[in-house]
Amino acid sequence: MENYILLKAALLTEGIRSDIESLTAVGINYKEQNHGLFGWDFENHVDLKLPDDFCLPDGTVVQFRLNSKSQYYVKTHDDKLKLYLNEHEICEIKWIERPDFYNKKTTQNNDMVKIGQIGGRDCLFFCYQNYCSHFSSNKQCSFCNLVTTSKVYDSVIKKKDMTDIGEVAKAAWSEGNVNHILLTGGCFSHEQEVALVSEILESIKKHTGFERVPGVILPSPAKGDDIERYFETGINAIGYSMEIWDEKLYKAICPGKSESTSHAEFVKSIQTAVKIFGEGNVFVALVMGLEPKETFLQGIQTLSAMGANIVPFVWSPNPGSKLEGHRAPSAEWYFDVISEAAEIVYDNKVPSGIENHCYQCDGNSLLHDALRLKGIV
Ligand code: SF4
Repeated sequence: MENYILLKAALLTEGIRSDIESLTAVGINYKEQNHGLFGWDFENHVDLKLPDDFCLPDGTVVQFRLNSKSQYYVKTHDDKLKLYLNEHEICEIKWIERPDFYNKKTTQNNDMVKIGQIGGRDCLFFCYQNYCSHFSSNKQCSFCNLVTTSKVYDSVIKKKDMTDIGEVAKAAWSEGNVNHILLTGGCFSHEQEVALVSEILESIKKHTGFERVPGVILPSPAKGDDIERYFETGINAIGYSMEIWDEKLYKAICPGKSESTSHAEFVKSIQTAVKIFGEGNVFVALVMGLEPKETFLQGIQTLSAMGANIVPFVWSPNPGSKLEGHRAPSAEWYFDVISEAAEIVYDNKVPSGIENHCYQCDGNSLLHDALRLKGIV
């Protein structure tokens, strides 16, 4: 049987391309990319609708990262989508169905798809701030292309109305496929951010009837009393975008962010957050592939021993980031390291947190898939 984790790692690090026939129903029957925050393709594609993600035969969700030079490509054969490596057929794949609410408008006549988008199969994503202050001082994280993506595609409403967000949540949940929410933004004033998130959660609760909302708030690093305030908004879980575990590399790769939140502050805040939100309900986002295996796994060990879950995004160079044109480590490296990471998380008995974020929520991390093989779904 095919090693789907290794295949996913290859697809994320080599990119993928498709023939035109296979793309004809993308944006009609199948979910297209909408660039709510970052762009993950190897190249921009303003005039071409591409799938957001797709499923392998075992249900593994893979983000579609366009690379028109990739040896992996999709072609329609006998009315099925087939994935090839050069001339070798690997397996059938399936684009993910387009949600009905992508065709609907809010009562204020705004396109719902420009307000919230579905990540993977079941995660409703709202970005409440497409801005990051680190770009103006040229201290953005070197893997990040937030500003370029926003300029190139200009495809989502940047300042979102609270009622619109609630209406989109209601419409999305009523379709029966959404299980989780993910709220995030760039970096801005903490006071303003907690207040804004609180308003957003009020609107979502009012429109969906939830007392506590299943999902994750991923704000600018929450510290001190703010952590409790985020808990009081009614979201079930909180995230920390720590990005890089090794302290010196973190400073080098994330110069702006590390000035405002140190490695030690992250660790302390995550410990506090685990006490408030509960074990398994704190998610730490790391960028995997920019630091050595040794320090990455140290991070996995320390964080999972604290009771936090980790979402390590597979890094590959994207356009507009400082690392555009670089190369990611090999798929084999990703597979080996994520297999060890899964062992560590499993041994530390971190509650899975799948009520708030699961393997179907996004297609750019391998850890959920590796844990799934260990029976954690
Ligand atoms: S903090 Fe870093 S990763 Fe986050 S939006 Fe700013 S530059 Fe991008």
